[in-house]
Amino acid sequence: MGLEAALPVDGILTTQLNRVVNWARRSAVWPMPFATACCGIELMATASSRFDLARFGAEVMRFSPRQADLLIVAGRVSVKMLPVLQRIYVQMTEPKWVISMGACASTGGVFDTYAVVQGVDQFIPVDVYVPGCPPRPEMLIEGVMAIQRIIDEDNIPYDGDGKRIPLEVSLTPNYEPRAQPVEVSVGAT
Ligand code: SF4
Repeated sequence: MGLEAALPVDGILTTQLNRVVNWARRSAVWPMPFATACCGIELMATASSRFDLARFGAEVMRFSPRQADLLIVAGRVSVKMLPVLQRIYVQMTEPKWVISMGACASTGGVFDTYAVVQGVDQFIPVDVYVPGCPPRPEMLIEGVMAIQRIIDEDNIPYDGDGKRIPLEVSLTPNYEPRAQPVEVSVGAT
């Protein structure tokens, strides 16, 4: 938005204005879904009524990078698709954030092959890594909330050349699976 550049003086008024701007940014994150595989289904579920991403003001999925400020990479990315991902990232508005959703986006997952990118952070800056295969919608919401906390703290780091420094926040899994196999009993006693 260029507001930071327009208000270089660190006064009380500027600080208060920054808080309002960050509140507005945090309350209206517009995600750009880059869903290439099964993680995309969980991404769709996150926006559905059961999990209701609208509670966090982030339900307006944009399919135009110029109208989005949060890139969610959900699924494995093939080497062939990588230039598309990079182009979308470059076309998004500043300031922008990136979530790497699931094992495949973050590491290539089980697809340890020459055709699959072994971690998108080698090619675009990633701010939050959401673990899981696939991550549950609650876990992705944790990731969105982590981005919102970062925006609230005005923590948009740039290096000396004005290049964005990725935050590289890794979330801890919050889902504890039940012991398997689950005991089955036939007939009530
Ligand atoms: S992390 Fe698991 S669920 Fe997600 S795209 Fe890879 S294989 Fe599919």
